[in-house]
Amino acid sequence: MVIRSKTLRFVILISTVLVTIIIAVQLFWLQKVYKYEEKQFNINVSKSIRGLYRDMQMVNDVSDNVQKVVENPNPDLYLLRIDCNPYLDSLWLNLKAELTDFDVYTDCEAAIYSHEKNAFTNEQYIDLPDAYHAPKESTAIPVLKRDYSYVALFFPHRGEYILKQMYFWMGSGGLLLLVLIAFGASIFYLYRQKFLNETQKDFVNNFTHEFKTPLAVIKIAAEVLQQPNIADKPEKLKNYAAIIDEQTTHLQAQTQRLLEIAYTDSNKVPLEKEKFDITALLQQAITDLHPLIEQKNATIETSFSHNGNMVTADKYYMLLAFINLVENAIKYSTDPKILISTYTEGKDCCIAIKDNGIGIKEEHQKKIFDRFFRVTEGELHTAKGFGLGLNFVKKVIDAHGGKIDVKSMPGNGSIFTIKIATS
Ligand code: ADP
Repeated sequence: MVIRSKTLRFVILISTVLVTIIIAVQLFWLQKVYKYEEKQFNINVSKSIRGLYRDMQMVNDVSDNVQKVVENPNPDLYLLRIDCNPYLDSLWLNLKAELTDFDVYTDCEAAIYSHEKNAFTNEQYIDLPDAYHAPKESTAIPVLKRDYSYVALFFPHRGEYILKQMYFWMGSGGLLLLVLIAFGASIFYLYRQKFLNETQKDFVNNFTHEFKTPLAVIKIAAEVLQQPNIADKPEKLKNYAAIIDEQTTHLQAQTQRLLEIAYTDSNKVPLEKEKFDITALLQQAITDLHPLIEQKNATIETSFSHNGNMVTADKYYMLLAFINLVENAIKYSTDPKILISTYTEGKDCCIAIKDNGIGIKEEHQKKIFDRFFRVTEGELHTAKGFGLGLNFVKKVIDAHGGKIDVKSMPGNGSIFTIKIATS
């Protein structure tokens, strides 16, 4: 299951890297576009200023080098040196015409600074056609002290105006991001679907395997029992009848477990709580597993605490949970030596089931409680199962408000610990 999903996981990894690169490139380009628009704005304002100097007699030395007489102390502010007081009406009119000609469509505030008075003598809002008006109040033109008079041109909403020019790019970037998110979500959905398909296929395989062998044994035994002279061999008859009995009991138990698990999946675990000694229930689980213990030649040791073993819980579900854990401990060990112990921790009763089995890799330890999950890689275990047991155990413990966790070292065995409130 893990191996089959590997390719898809690889595809997801590559896609994530690609998406990250695309987003980074997108951000890089947006920043570039911002810089470009900023430069364009600057060029347009500079051209308008050059036009203004050409239109009006503002400095004594009418040279072509406007840069010398214009200062740009911050991106929003331009100071245009003047040697004489220009005729105001025509100054504002020319300024408006130049800015309009060079497509500067944002709020502009202008003012005349007199160096004798060290203050603005006139201020004017330049009403540009189609100008961008930012929703917030504009700030006052900063008064910068100079030893010459100047016309200050202030563009309070320059930043917002430039961003507005970029709406198309930001919109298309956002759209691309949305498409990528939708794409990512579809891949994730596909992965989940594939994972579920694979786990279900595994489940069907396990299920078939679990039922096929006993059925084949029963069929053979039935054929033997149908032999004409079987009545003459009562010993053989008894043996084969016993085999059928044993296999059907096994099948019955498996079917019942499947039904219980299917039931607890679709409903909340219906608990019928009673107060009992947990150690007695653990003993009962060991007794119930006697055939398996014998078959695998397992040793089971117990070390029960003297007090704090009384709990209020559903006896039947707790028994099934313990059977599952002890059965796993036996199933996943070659020469099983199991220690079942109880101890108290504060107000909790702890039940630990320790084995010396194959262990569980760190990366699988969380997943083993998932429905249908079975470790299939590495030392491919021959133990049969459906990958439902631990999920069932966790549901039962959760329903009791308890906790289950696992500590394990591959090759060194595992310890499953359940914590449940004492009463
Ligand atoms: P099943 O045993 O039917 O496969 P479980 O839900 O009981 O399903 O266990 C899930 C998986 O967790 C098992 O397939 C096995 O890989 C691993 N596992 C469970 N208990 C142990 C254990 N005591 N030692 C090693 N591996 C275990």
